[in-house]
Amino acid sequence: MSSDADEKTMMLQDQVKKLQSQKDILLKELDVVEERFEKINRLYRRYFPVIIDSVAIGDNAFSRICKDLSQALKKGVSEGKLEYIFERLKTAMFREDIASLPGEKKKGLFSAFQKSGSELFIDAYKLSYYDVVNNLRSNLDKQYTGKLDNITKRIRTAEDTGDISDIRENVFRLVFAYISDTSQDRYKVNAFVLEIAGKIFDIESTITSSFEYTGSMFQSNDEFEEALNFKITDLEQIKDVSSSLDDFKIQVAKRLSSIKKALETKQTKDQAVKKLVRQNQDAFKTGFSRLKQELDKATKHSEELEKKLDRDQLTGAYNRRAYDRRVEEEMERFLRYGTMFSLLMMDADKFKLINDDYGHTVGDKCLQEIIKRTLPLLRKNDMLARYEGDEFVIILPGTDKAGAKKAAEKIRKNIERIGFLYKSKKIKVTVSIGVSQSRKGDKDHLQIFERADIAVYKAKEQGRNTVVVN
Ligand code: GH3
Ligand code: MG
Repeated sequence: MSSDADEKTMMLQDQVKKLQSQKDILLKELDVVEERFEKINRLYRRYFPVIIDSVAIGDNAFSRICKDLSQALKKGVSEGKLEYIFERLKTAMFREDIASLPGEKKKGLFSAFQKSGSELFIDAYKLSYYDVVNNLRSNLDKQYTGKLDNITKRIRTAEDTGDISDIRENVFRLVFAYISDTSQDRYKVNAFVLEIAGKIFDIESTITSSFEYTGSMFQSNDEFEEALNFKITDLEQIKDVSSSLDDFKIQVAKRLSSIKKALETKQTKDQAVKKLVRQNQDAFKTGFSRLKQELDKATKHSEELEKKLDRDQLTGAYNRRAYDRRVEEEMERFLRYGTMFSLLMMDADKFKLINDDYGHTVGDKCLQEIIKRTLPLLRKNDMLARYEGDEFVIILPGTDKAGAKKAAEKIRKNIERIGFLYKSKKIKVTVSIGVSQSRKGDKDHLQIFERADIAVYKAKEQGRNTVVVN
């Protein structure tokens, strides 16, 4: 061969080398894809049993094998064993004609195995929503069963991403109805709602990112890899058998063009899946941010409601409901960590007389003034609540009875000094305060409250406008 021919052969060999390194890159890519495929496989093993369990109703051969399959998936048995169960299931299905239940769309459970990437994509969503609905079913009251059944039906018949948005919308609508209907503890409700919303978000994000590399893209990578492999072997063989350099060149050009074609086909397929994934991602993002806004609004609304429910209307102080909750918390802290707290029980002296002498409206103003003057004397963590009528209770966390007595004296003196004026006459308002502290052996906050209450009684006996520690 001439040196010109040698040079051309070297060039072609160089090209073959390049193609081989391209092949190596693709093989690495294939590893990544396989890893992701494994991930989605795990996802199926987790969610399939949920659906299978919901299909396996009654005592027939189909249901029994369904249950076997569900168990096998949960246990993660070998593929051979799975295949065997699938075979049994197929036979049972044909025998019992499961695929054509009256009123249902003729859509067998196993059609999923012949589905395209986009259909598998929708199925993964459906499985995750079955899981969410089951979670709601085990957490919500019976009154939501009908709505949950309707959503389950919607999931069963869903076919495209539009249906998925609709299901997502329905799930959130149900959760909103639950937020406004329920009388359960707001904090628990909010935590549960956020958990559900977060779960939906997580699941949808996982599915979307998994599908970016799996499904049909996995298939098209596989096909491409196979095509490329074949062409390279082919190319190496031609080099040996081609009789003339020109023929060799033609053959190489031909093979290169078919490699290019395979690459183009792969790219078109990848683009289609990417587009579908992106479209749904966008729809999901808009839907989710709108629902997140609504959830924030509902949470804010319930928090405002909560705040209002915690306040006494006349004085603006906390009310008994808020006190009960807070004192429970303090007691729990005391029992668990030994963190002490004190209670002040404050009762206006001879308040009936003030009402009698000056009228109820003036009495109201006096109560408001007592609170207004007391609040600035307290620490940020202290809590002042109106217990009932002219009786107030103050929680002093981390304060012993000596400190609590000092605080009580300060409050008593401050109120004594107030110059209530009524038609240029000075009204004298005083308070009696009972002090008690959490102590070893206390099992319940009511025991501490009772000691403070007795202390007030003693203060009244000792002539009022006094602080007594018990
Ligand atoms: P004592 O010194 O023994 O506490 O005498 P008291 O007259 O204050 O008796 P007691 O604490 O048993 O009665 C509370 C009174 O407070 C009864 C009621 O007339 C008055 N009161 C309760 N709630 C209100 C209110 O919202 N506004 C007004 N103006 N008065 C109230
Ligand atoms: Mg009183």
